[in-house]
Amino acid sequence: MAPKHHPTPLSGGDRKALAKEVGRARAMTTILAAQSAEARTKGEALIRTADKLLCESWNERMWANGEPVDPSPTVDQAINGGYPWLEIECSRCKTKRDVDLAALRHPPTTFVHDLVSRLRCSKCAKAGRRPPATLLQLSQRARHPDPEAPLNV
Ligand SMILES: [Zn+2]
Repeated sequence: MAPKHHPTPLSGGDRKALAKEVGRARAMTTILAAQSAEARTKGEALIRTADKLLCESWNERMWANGEPVDPSPTVDQAINGGYPWLEIECSRCKTKRDVDLAALRHPPTTFVHDLVSRLRCSKCAKAGRRPPATLLQLSQRARHPDPEAPLNV
């Protein structure tokens, strides 16, 4: 693209001033874009910290009281905060399992506590029961990687 044309001022002093202003604006373009990128990076890091703290706060409540599960972080907040696993336990047979939040076919705006009704123990389902899952905590890594662990998502 051809550079923008600025009408040439009649006086030499004005021409000099215009050239200076155009040069300053061009330099500012780069400087401001760099500052914007820097601010965005800092902002994203802050949001990540906020999401991590939200997960840790929920974990503390789950550990201390086990309830209320609501409010909880959203699935995308948990993943962004570095807690992509949800540790659950079958309320009947006590089988534990880690749910990979990133693999869920739910909108990322789904709250973690809203998953409870969708998590079922298949071992108990075979026995004709559908006990609800108990939400234990959000985890940074899977603690129960046993592929045989029978809870369905
Ligand atoms: Zn069960």
